[in-house]
Order: sequence, then C-alpha cells, then structure tokens
Amino acid sequence: MKKKVIKFGGTSVGSIERIMHAAKIIQEESNKGNKLIVVVSAMAGKTSELISMSKQISNKFVKRELDVLLSTGEQVSCALISGALNELGIKAQSFMNWQIPILTDGDHNNSRIINMNTTKINDYITNGGVAIVPGYQGISKLGEVTTIGRGGSDATAVAIAKIFDTDSCEIYTDVDGVYSTDPNKIPVAKKIDKISYEEMLELSSLGAKVMQSSAVQTAMIYEIPLQVRSTFTDRPGTKIFSKNNLDYTKAVTGVAYSKDEAKITLQDVEDKPGIAAEIFEPLGKNQINIDMVIQNVSSDGKTTDITFTVKRDDLDKSLNILKKNKQIRYKNLSFKSNVSKISIVGAGMVTTPGITYKMFRALAEEKINILAISTSEIKISVIIEEKFTVEAAKKLHSIFNLD
Ligand code: ADP
Ligand code: ASP
Ligand code: MG
Repeated sequence: MKKKVIKFGGTSVGSIERIMHAAKIIQEESNKGNKLIVVVSAMAGKTSELISMSKQISNKFVKRELDVLLSTGEQVSCALISGALNELGIKAQSFMNWQIPILTDGDHNNSRIINMNTTKINDYITNGGVAIVPGYQGISKLGEVTTIGRGGSDATAVAIAKIFDTDSCEIYTDVDGVYSTDPNKIPVAKKIDKISYEEMLELSSLGAKVMQSSAVQTAMIYEIPLQVRSTFTDRPGTKIFSKNNLDYTKAVTGVAYSKDEAKITLQDVEDKPGIAAEIFEPLGKNQINIDMVIQNVSSDGKTTDITFTVKRDDLDKSLNILKKNKQIRYKNLSFKSNVSKISIVGAGMVTTPGITYKMFRALAEEKINILAISTSEIKISVIIEEKFTVEAAKKLHSIFNLD
C-alpha cells in the first residue's frame, strides 16, 4: 500500500468522457489499496477562456477578482471527478483550497504555496476515501483566494507530495513522458526514460511546458522523484530524479523553445559605472523579468549598446518604463517583438567540447541569424526570428542525434 499524489492535467479532464477515463485510472489505483490524493487542473482551455473573458471587460481586470475567476476552473473538474468516482462506487470527495486550507504567499495571480493543513485529508484517505484537490490555487493569510501562475497544478502536486510525505508523485498528461523536444510540433522527438532535475528545470524554464518549472524546482530542492506519464496509454513514462542516477554519454538531452520573447536595444548609452543598474532597477521593481543581456564593448570609451530580452507580454510596459527613466541617456531605443528563444540542454555538455560551435554552425547552414546568446553549464540559448523557430528546433534536434 502506497500513499500517492496523482495529478491530471487539463487535456486529461478535458471532456466528460475523459473525466470518466481518469476516474477509471483512479479506481484501479484505489483498488490496489493505495491512499490517494488526486490533483486536477481545469478542463483544457478553460483557464485561457476565463482570462479572455476578463480581458473583454478590461485589460487591467482587478487581480483579486481575476484570481476568484480563474480558480473556478479547477473547482469544476474537482466536482466532476469526485462525482464520476462516486458513480463507480469509490468513496471520494473534493476539498476546496480554503477547506483544506492550502496557504499561499505573494501577489495575486503569482502566489506560491507555503503550507497546507494535512489533518482532514489524511483522516479521509486513511479511512479509505480518495481526496480530490484543485491545482493552481490556495488562500493567503488574509483569506483571499490566490492562484499560483499558469501550469501551476504541477506545483500543487509537488507541494502535496512534500507536505503529505507521499511515496510518489505522478503527473498524468497528454503525452507519454518528457521528450527530446515537443513531440506535437516535431514528431521525430524521442521519449526520455530518465532525466535529472537540473536538465528538466532548464527544459521547462526554456519552454517545455510538459512540467511547470517551479514544480520541478521544488521537487529538486526536496528530492521528490517525479513521474510523467500518459493518461491515454499504459506505456511507462519519464522519471525525473537526482543527477547521480544518470549517465552522461549524450551531450545534448533535449531542445526547447519559447515563442513569447521580445528584444530591446538601447543604442549609445553612456558607458559609466552604475548605468546598467539604472536601466534594470526600475524594470525589476515593476516585476519585469530580464532574461539575456548583452553589452557591447565601447569603441569610443563613452557610449555602448545594451540589448536585453523580456517576455513579449512585458514589452509595452518595459518600453514605457525605459522612456520615462530620466536617469539614463541614450541615442535610440529599438525593439523587436517577433523573436523566439531556442535552447539545447544537456548535463553531458560540461564534458563534451565543441557543442557551442556545432550549434551556431547548424543555424548558419539554415541561414538563421543569431540575435543574442546566453549559456550556462548545461544549456545554450539563442534568440532568433520567430518565423525560424520550428526549423531551427528540427535542425538542432537532428545534428545532436536526437531524432
Ligand atoms: P497538462 O494539461 O497535462 O498539464 P500541458 O499542455 O501543460 O499538459 O503539457 C503537455 C504538453 O507539453 C504536450 O502536449 C506537449 O505539446 C508539450 N511539450 C513541450 N515540450 C515537450 C517535451 N519536451 N516533452 C513532452 N511534451 C512537451
Ligand atoms: N488551469 C491552470 C492553467 O491552465 C493550471 C494548470 O493547468 O496547471 O494554467
Ligand atoms: Mg501543464
């Protein structure tokens, strides 16, 4: 008998038929005698639909009410899954975020789970019930409903695994594991049987939305092994666990990309100490994440060019802040909104020379211009024009022998 967290993503509960199917998986697990806490996402597309409804009212829809609105998607799937299980003769009950409660900290729309009360749910599952919990949400210390960022049901599942000290954390989704790149866009992608937290964290933060990056980060910190598997097939999934268990024979494990990037360039900025801080401080204080930064060598010793990237959604806000910033002087402010970031990730990169030039050469062969570069020990990312994204991903996938 095991204590398990099982999480079903949006597609897995995307219709009544799929809800019945997910309920049968839960039934099988419950019949094995396992104690189950089930985390569910909103039905596929629901959260986006709710966001677009709020936008029809206002682009600045009050964040508190947006959280109240967005948290409803998961409430619907909780009730439907519980109802489906009851129909199958399984004892099951939904627990809303405030009933548990799931405590969060931080801003509306972007909170994080800090704790949960375990008493009610532990009692319920010890007495043979299946607890159904909504992903993606909680309540703050002030009792306000909060959401924890898109894709956040993964983070709820990992937080439950940690706080309830479960034996496993299984993420059921619409693909049968983590692939070398998005299998829905590049069908030659290969399934990865095992992957380290570090590599998975890079892949998720660089665009592989199969796992949410903050969920992977929590799993890594607390060494919670994860399993990603399909709701629709019985094939074994992908195990995500600590690096010690892996071999480094492959330099590159996967290719990830994200299309929602934008690039900003400040030309002829005064080259003096403190100027970068003057540029980036107001952006940071306005919750804008800066990704890549390139500062050119100053040719005249007086001015330089600074290029950096932000999420495309933050572009307008960033430009406004820069234009209003009286502390900086520059000749020209330019931007490009249709860019994407493409990255190769692999723990084996550290010990394999020549990966960088191979990547750049491959892109050059496709006549794809590199607009910015950033590297870490286990990843290389480049910014390119958005229209070349899939072509570039395919090329890199093939030259690093991942096809
Ligand atoms: P869920 O609703 O179950 O949380 P998501 O849509 O968030 O599912 O994540 C699953 C999707 O992630 C897949 O359908 C796939 O298109 C996409 N994806 C992107 N990169 C990868 C990858 N490297 N491996 C597997 N899936 C990936
Ligand atoms: N429903 C939320 C979203 O679409 C959370 C999740 O699915 O993980 O972002
Ligand atoms: Mg997801």
